[in-house]
Amino acid sequence: MSLLRKLFKKNVAVEELQAPPMPLPQRNDLCWCGSGTKYKKCHLEEDQHTLSRIREKEQAAACSPVLG
Ligand SMILES: [Zn+2]
Repeated sequence: MSLLRKLFKKNVAVEELQAPPMPLPQRNDLCWCGSGTKYKKCHLEEDQHTLSRIREKEQAAACSPVLG
């Protein structure tokens, strides 16, 4: 039972890609997360990483053949 739970948790963690709210702030604007830090010093890199991951996933999904 605990093994199943571990697997489930792992899957959730991998699938969970939280996209930043759109539109994204400018580099020198305050970050959308409310930290009071400029976007470029806060979530800019993380957002770019997340968005590229999401794009990869979408492309992979679009390219994969439909089975069944
Ligand atoms: Zn932030």
